[in-house]
Amino acid sequence: MDNYARLMNKDTVKAADRAHVFHSWSAQELIDPLAVAGAEGSYFWDYDGNRYLDFSSALVYTNIGYQHPKVVAAIQEQAAKLCTLAPGFAVDVRSEAARLIAERTPGDLDKIFFTNGGAEAVENAVRMARVHTGRPKVLSAYRSYHGATSGAINLTGDARRFGNDSATAGVVHFWGPFLYRSPFHATTEAEECERALRHLEDTVVFEGPASIAAVVLEPVVGAAGVLVPPPGYLAGVREICDRHGIVLVLDEVMVGFGRTGAWFAADHWEVVPDLLTFAKGVNSGYLPLGGVAISPAIAETFARRPYPGGLTYSGHVLACAAAVATLGVMAEEGVVEQSARTGAELLGPGLAELAERHPCVGEVRGMGTFWALELVRDPATREPLVPYAASGAAAAPMAAFAEACKKGGLWPLTAGNRLHVAPPCTVSAEDVARGLEILDGALAVADAHM
Ligand code: PMP
Repeated sequence: MDNYARLMNKDTVKAADRAHVFHSWSAQELIDPLAVAGAEGSYFWDYDGNRYLDFSSALVYTNIGYQHPKVVAAIQEQAAKLCTLAPGFAVDVRSEAARLIAERTPGDLDKIFFTNGGAEAVENAVRMARVHTGRPKVLSAYRSYHGATSGAINLTGDARRFGNDSATAGVVHFWGPFLYRSPFHATTEAEECERALRHLEDTVVFEGPASIAAVVLEPVVGAAGVLVPPPGYLAGVREICDRHGIVLVLDEVMVGFGRTGAWFAADHWEVVPDLLTFAKGVNSGYLPLGGVAISPAIAETFARRPYPGGLTYSGHVLACAAAVATLGVMAEEGVVEQSARTGAELLGPGLAELAERHPCVGEVRGMGTFWALELVRDPATREPLVPYAASGAAAAPMAAFAEACKKGGLWPLTAGNRLHVAPPCTVSAEDVARGLEILDGALAVADAHM
């Protein structure tokens, strides 16, 4: 306790952080992390009492907000009973978490392989697909993010793979649909959909279908842009995979468990993948947990032959207890329905109104509690407010915009030239209104950089 008390002041926390914590995705000496003293619901606060409305849901994972009392109590009760047990044992909360997840995931995905997070889920989905098909290659989208372990970062088509390229052989990238910056020069959603599907089909044919184990795809692309696919796209991808015997992996790590206003994003289009990866919202990130939901056909491959993979903390008991409690809260409190309503009635119309008032907003897109504003220098040419993969001085206009959000009391999630708007699925109407008002002020700062 003495040690803990010694840390409980802004300066000591920051000094130890600066001296010893090596931060993700950052130039260590160019960052100045906020020292956070606590969090509850849609807010966290610093040691000076400044409260921030968290429109990032941490990294898009606190779907039920911070410190939900029922989940906190479930973790405490489980900790008092049994903290941990090796993955090889049947444990009540692990069985129950798997049962609940299997019940919620689309179609007949009935077996759950647990991991500690999203990247490990993607790694294992790819491994399952490769062993199941006996084929080596994996296709994924340029505009995607699948995690930062060596396999997952190579599936990632986004600039964050730079510096890690070629750690895994056999990854081929393709372009998914994105009408606002159409890779296919399409002008309508139907045209974009048709051309994107033809491009994927051509990619499959020219790579050799018999060499392709899986297509790995985010049903709504998350970190690389909040890209909602046109109607018919996912069903078309499913059809291409079926015709060529390719495993369809839908990566629902960011969009699963209510984020888009459905339990899973694939539910919007009634598409059932062969493998579905999840993490984040499964227990609102209160403890690290992810996994793969598996089709009967792929599960059958490993019925009498050992699965060649595993993790020490697979299905960690405390993380599973948090998942059981979180899924209970989501059902009892109608969290998925609330996310859908908030998107349709508050965030969608509210953000569209901001776009009308602020010329820097090139496009608003999203669903549920999952939106992005594309900020541009010029709405006519759609030139991004900052160039692709910009850093340092080139990224300054977005940094100024983010700073203005924070000054107003809103914690933003920005990526490239985009503001991602992803409050907890449980965010109140008052807090949405408050957030939109703060964004209104901050967007004026971005307008000035046009
Ligand atoms: N897949 C997707 C779609 C993601 O959004 C993320 C994380 N943002 C990952 C995989 C990786 O998850 P993790 O950081 O838990 O490894």
